[in-house]
Amino acid sequence: MEDCLFCKIISGDVPSTKVYEDEYVYAFLDIAPQAPFHAVFVPKIHIKSPAFIDSENSLYVAKIYEAIATVAKNEKLEKGFRVVANCGEDGGQTVGHLHFHLLARRNLQWPPG
Ligand code: 5GP
Ligand code: ZN
Repeated sequence: MEDCLFCKIISGDVPSTKVYEDEYVYAFLDIAPQAPFHAVFVPKIHIKSPAFIDSENSLYVAKIYEAIATVAKNEKLEKGFRVVANCGEDGGQTVGHLHFHLLARRNLQWPPG
């Protein structure tokens, strides 16, 4: 989609540090990491937010979770990690293309702020 930052990252128009890619998923390091390991997983189609997941596109979400498990294994995140999907204004979403944060290599507090 035009003017979507993450669509531009997927197409390569905006550079990123890739950590994973397949037919459905692209994942890259976050530019402002909130943990020693912080990657962002996006579907290769434009879905606006978690509120727009439906039966037509939910395969992309399943593929993202498979990719997260693969990256967690490759990165040896045996101590654990957190997956976060922010949604909308109150959810703290700043980029309007569905994405899942993978945060690891520090002790993450719960509940989040
Ligand atoms: P949100 O706040 O929408 O849940 O997450 C958006 C994330 O995208 C933020 O963690 C932010 O640091 C990251 N981000 C924003 N612009 C860029 C960029 O140009 N490149 C990369 N790699 N990450 C970005
Ligand atoms: Zn997009």
